Amino acid sequence: MLNSSPQVFDNSDASLVHRGGCFCGSASYQVKGLPLLSAFCHCTLCQRLNAAAFIHTSHFPASGFEWTHSNSELDVLESYAVASKPWKMRWRCKKCGCTVASHNTKLDKWSVWGAQFERDEGGKIIGWDSIKPTAHIFYDTRLVDIHDDLSKWTGYEGTSARLA
Ligand SMILES: [Zn+2]
Ligand SMILES: [Zn+2]
Repeated sequence: MLNSSPQVFDNSDASLVHRGGCFCGSASYQVKGLPLLSAFCHCTLCQRLNAAAFIHTSHFPASGFEWTHSNSELDVLESYAVASKPWKMRWRCKKCGCTVASHNTKLDKWSVWGAQFERDEGGKIIGWDSIKPTAHIFYDTRLVDIHDDLSKWTGYEGTSARLA
């Protein structure tokens, strides 16, 4: 770029659409464009909320997120927040209980979990190359060491200390 204005991340590739949803299929969404962030998160919140060692999270601007189920939001979804992050509204399916998306009301961004993106008949996530994780974040609190080529960070990728 020639000028010195703050760089705005361009995720406007509108041809990119990924769909996802809860386990039972009652709640569904689509996200458009490239994720602002796509990473394996090892933070203690993700670990405890998912009963998992780490999860694949991806962030999208509010303009790129949309619910797609036909039933009304109130019929399908309920929201909750955890005490330590009251500004983050988490949405789960009333029927199967899966949390499917969360809205950061401070930054107006939506987070969805990679494992819930739509898959092909072989179980592979559709469009994986454009949404696959680029790093391991909050790696200090990992439950397992990961030996792969992705960078490892104490916090978010690029804005925290790099561990590997
Ligand atoms: Zn469900
Ligand atoms: Zn996390």
